[in-house]
Amino acid sequence: MNEISMKAYAKINLCLDVLGKQANGYHQVEMVMQQVDLYDVVTVKCNPMKKKKNDVQITDPIVVTASRNDLPVGETNLAYKAAKLMQETYKQDSEIYIHLEKNIPVAAGLAGGSADGAAVLLALSQLWHLHLELQELMELGVQLGADVPFCIMGQAKKMQNLQLRGKEWASTCAFAEGIGEKLTPLPPLDCLVLLSKPSIDVSTAVVYNGLCLEDIKSHPDTKELILGLKEKNLRKIQKNMINVLETVTLRDYLLVAEMKQYMENFETAYQVLMSGSGPTIFALYTNRKKARLAYINSKKKSNETYLIRTLS
Ligand code: ATP
Repeated sequence: MNEISMKAYAKINLCLDVLGKQANGYHQVEMVMQQVDLYDVVTVKCNPMKKKKNDVQITDPIVVTASRNDLPVGETNLAYKAAKLMQETYKQDSEIYIHLEKNIPVAAGLAGGSADGAAVLLALSQLWHLHLELQELMELGVQLGADVPFCIMGQAKKMQNLQLRGKEWASTCAFAEGIGEKLTPLPPLDCLVLLSKPSIDVSTAVVYNGLCLEDIKSHPDTKELILGLKEKNLRKIQKNMINVLETVTLRDYLLVAEMKQYMENFETAYQVLMSGSGPTIFALYTNRKKARLAYINSKKKSNETYLIRTLS
């Protein structure tokens, strides 16, 4: 087998807190991340490396294509970066072809790029029969981005026949600390998720740069939210679904604030929150009829609207 196709799942943040800024400029965060059943399909194919001329590689051995033509597919694509990192780390002599069937909205706060990068790491470790430890792959993944280890952990949970040691530890829901890379598995939340991306792109870096820690009035009690997940106590979860990055994104992007207000006005969800640095807003439902009605209305506001489930 020299080809593998896998699902690269999006995530939402059930809460996101920023505790401070590290000396290296990264923010220290605490968040609960949950994967949802919205995914890109990532296909990775390996061929033996073509002969080199005078030891110089003639063409780039990594080729990425995507179903969206507005996505850069060169060296800046996280799938490309992941393949390069694997080549450099495990020194395999192969050409790598990657195709991304994009369904996750881009620059949306849903970790679409990180999920694709994670999928490439998992796919190549499988195709090259590396028999790595899950932790080892996650440590490699953080070099690509803070959300990549979580994406690896969640995707590993959903992959059958995965040749990865320590995969019993994998989970689609986790508590994330540090810059988001220190992960503790949690019992996943089981509910419907309505998510809608207003038609603007928001840069994660710009939002973090605009954050003023002193201005944050309300922080989540992350410990209580975690307890809520363990006890399946919706009230404890709902009460602590707070994302401190809303203080920047909702203030600076009117369209995002309007979308949140719009979804809250249905008064049918048990909570409405922004995911990551935005602009995607999501609402959690336990009742399918109410969720469906809210979906039909939200779809009128934004084409990139989905009604899906959390992943367990
Ligand atoms: P996060 O929540 O991790 O900050 P995001 O959902 O906000 O991620 P992405 O969809 O990952 O954002 O896209 C952020 C930027 O990364 C975009 O500007 C996009 O051009 C670039 N990018 C690189 N590779 C990919 C990829 N495979 N899929 C989507 N975007 C990618």
